[in-house]
Amino acid sequence: MLKALTQPWFYNGRMSDCRVSIGASVAHQPVEEPSDLLKKADIALYAAKLRGGGRIAIYEPGMRVEMQKRATEVALAREALQQDLILPSYQPKVDLQTGKLSGFEALLRWRHPTRGMQAPALIGAAFEDLELAGALTDRMLSYILRDMRRWLDAGVDFGHVALNAAAADFMQKDFAERLLQRLDAAGVPPHRLQVEVTETVFLGRGAEYVEQALKVLSASGIRIALDDFGTGYASLSHLKQFPVDVVKIDRSFLRDVHDPHNAAIIRTVVSLGRSLDLDVVAEGVETVEQEAYLISEGCVLGQGYLYGKAASASRVPGLIKSGPGRVRLAA
Ligand code: C2E
Ligand code: CA
Ligand code: CA
Repeated sequence: MLKALTQPWFYNGRMSDCRVSIGASVAHQPVEEPSDLLKKADIALYAAKLRGGGRIAIYEPGMRVEMQKRATEVALAREALQQDLILPSYQPKVDLQTGKLSGFEALLRWRHPTRGMQAPALIGAAFEDLELAGALTDRMLSYILRDMRRWLDAGVDFGHVALNAAAADFMQKDFAERLLQRLDAAGVPPHRLQVEVTETVFLGRGAEYVEQALKVLSASGIRIALDDFGTGYASLSHLKQFPVDVVKIDRSFLRDVHDPHNAAIIRTVVSLGRSLDLDVVAEGVETVEQEAYLISEGCVLGQGYLYGKAASASRVPGLIKSGPGRVRLAA
């Protein structure tokens, strides 16, 4: 069925094709109610779509748990948005050679009424929900623009702020145009903003809009960073096709720099950056040993707990004044 349904077909004189996801469940003894079987098939269908679509998934009990987990994450995000609990937290990026601050990455936090600040992982599924992802980015952007405007007014030189964009953001066809309008309305120069995307945005639904959107943003002076580089598809053609200015080496490669494979990957990305005129940021710098290694490999920028965890907007001016901290870990 899957094969037959994905054959191109003619409609109104035009060739079309469609992608099909199928969910199935298998009846076991004692035979279940048809309505239960259909429910399970529906859960499997959801799992098939989550795995990228265009495939068949057969119901397994784990899928129900996963679906419930995701439903909780989505509900939490909706609630956090409604109650205005979403806000950005700013993590410094530094020049490894000079220790000077180059900018910040805005990371989403939400204030739990009793448990305090929460990480984005707890609402992870919301970033894949078309409507919620858009609303979260919108909310983040509002605060980021407000904060940048305040810092500019107060003469606080924060460098730039990077916003994380989800694949779902690009499903809104006017994402880039709206972002530029809001930047303009806030009076924040485009070079103050970076947009971070992972390679998954080039591959999933809406990928056809991504190139155009990134080109519009880039042409206006916003810099584009490719996040978690090396963990996904890391296709070099992406660096050519899309207007990428910055690559961020995923922190998994830094965990053990003695591992020859990790070292080779870091070395390769640094030299790739040099050849293609891209800034390279190493993520997850936690120790002076990692820092020394990165400097010896010629990596220019770093981000990680060694220089500071993400901090609230109110702490940013103080951080800039005192310079990003170097939490020297016990040797
Ligand atoms: P990311 O974009 O790769 O962000 C970096 C993550 O690494 C952050 O986790 C940061 O707190 C953590 N990190 C930074 N330095 C270190 C370090 O030295 N050691 C360790 N172990 N971790 C470090 P966080 O804030 O929990 O964010 C997780 C992910 O959630 C982000 O990964 C990003 O994919 C997503 N995210 C965060 N904020 C947003 C947002 O506003 N929008 C969207 N769409 N996604 C977001
Ligand atoms: Ca990021
Ligand atoms: Ca990252």
